[in-house]
Amino acid sequence: MVDKLVNSEANARRIAMVESCFGSSGQPLAVPGRVLVGEGVLTKMCRKKPKTRQFYLFNDILVYGNIIINKKKYNKQHIIPLEEVKLESIEDDPRGYQHGWLIKTASKSFAVYAATPLEKGEWMAHINKCIDDLLRKSGKKAVAEHAAVWVPDGKAPVCMHCEKTQFTLINRRHHCRKCGAVVCGPCSNKRFLLPNQSSKPLRVCLRCYDLLSGAKANHLVDSAQKGNNQDSSGEEDSDDDDEAQKAQEVYHDLPKFYGDNEKAEK
Ligand SMILES: [Zn+2]
Ligand SMILES: [Zn+2]
Repeated sequence: MVDKLVNSEANARRIAMVESCFGSSGQPLAVPGRVLVGEGVLTKMCRKKPKTRQFYLFNDILVYGNIIINKKKYNKQHIIPLEEVKLESIEDDPRGYQHGWLIKTASKSFAVYAATPLEKGEWMAHINKCIDDLLRKSGKKAVAEHAAVWVPDGKAPVCMHCEKTQFTLINRRHHCRKCGAVVCGPCSNKRFLLPNQSSKPLRVCLRCYDLLSGAKANHLVDSAQKGNNQDSSGEEDSDDDDEAQKAQEVYHDLPKFYGDNEKAEK
């Protein structure tokens, strides 16, 4: 179905529209063979709290950004190659977030939530279809190792490693880059090279450090000499701050998926 859209004017027009919404803050998206498969608003779990993000599903990439003006202006564009993506459904929390799933890649993994079970099903089915088609065409295998999903700050009043340290303005939260746990400074004073995520050694909890260093003794980097007073300011999820976003005043529209109902457009 999507293949019919490849050279259609409607597809070219939609992609030009996405480009214009991101303006100079985004990458060029019109690439031969690329099709915009669908678009819509999802709630993305960020470090501090869930935030509304505009998502665009193409047949080869997933793009999302912060909403400055709904349907008009977006920024902080992120592009995820679908070849690396694996989805995993999240069970509904009757007292919390519902209709969610994980988007896992080698370098970054996070949870998103749709407004209804139907929308969740549509998103997951369309994304999975794109991934399957891509892998089939390229003959590549799905990526086996995925970055940890960060536990949101609010879920951890105390350190998840020592279970003692209470977090305060001074005792700040840190995230283990290997398991995603929220840990205190002393429980994460080591770093380890995780090449899928960074060329520099990253903060890991002591539990993961022991596991990793047992497996690869020569990649040890001890950050103890670097001083243990680093704050976590450099550790924010890069799209986490969004002062520009006006108090979540985003209308909820149904996501749109193209190609489902359209006859081959010219
Ligand atoms: Zn601790
Ligand atoms: Zn860990």
